[in-house]
Amino acid sequence: MKFVFFGAPGVGKGTMSIRASQEFKLPHISTGNIFRAAIRDGTPLGIAVKSIIEAGDLVPDDLTIKLVRERLALPDVARGWMLDGYPRTIPQAQALDADAAGYHVIDLEVPDPVIIERLSGRRMCLHCGRSYHMVHMPPAVPGICDQCGTALSVRDDDAEDAIRNRLSAYRMLTAPLVEFYRERGTMITISAENDADTVWNELRSVLAALMEDPRQQK
Ligand code: AMP
Repeated sequence: MKFVFFGAPGVGKGTMSIRASQEFKLPHISTGNIFRAAIRDGTPLGIAVKSIIEAGDLVPDDLTIKLVRERLALPDVARGWMLDGYPRTIPQAQALDADAAGYHVIDLEVPDPVIIERLSGRRMCLHCGRSYHMVHMPPAVPGICDQCGTALSVRDDDAEDAIRNRLSAYRMLTAPLVEFYRERGTMITISAENDADTVWNELRSVLAALMEDPRQQK
């Protein structure tokens, strides 16, 4: 089955989609993680997107659509996928529609003040892509990723100016997708304001019910 994890920056798309990918054994595909790995490795893609991402702007659609198309052509997606952070614009959603039928959209919702607090306390493992929060979701050993032992970093785009830009890009370019998907009736909204375990329990039940429904087997 195919799932898109949707929501503003800081709602927990990364954390929830990684958990879902592990639980339901479907590949986790995060455009943000792909871009960050390219920046870390200094590839041509990384060089092209570095300043855009650090400023908190969106990478142009043509580049992002091509990247996801290539990723969704790999053989590990045969049973489905968990897309994290894509689509983020109407043209990206139209491109995904052209390539993939019957995907579900999980819309995670959190009030704005909670988003700012989450982003400013966030720490990330640039090796495996796992996110932490200094107060709400700290790693077992301070500053070290539980999963792979890499030292955690503050994302460049979690600086205050970049956070402001990311939220404004979300409102202008990404929020219109809520109507786009709601009209279609395939969007499931989950409040993600509570702690990660509470949100995960609700999300897991929603995903498990869809997985067990024979009408949804696509
Ligand atoms: P994320 O890790 O999903 O918050 O993404 C980090 C940054 O990568 C975003 O602020 C954008 O600059 C860029 N990015 C990730 N996904 C997309 C996308 N679907 N479209 C355009 N830019 C993206």
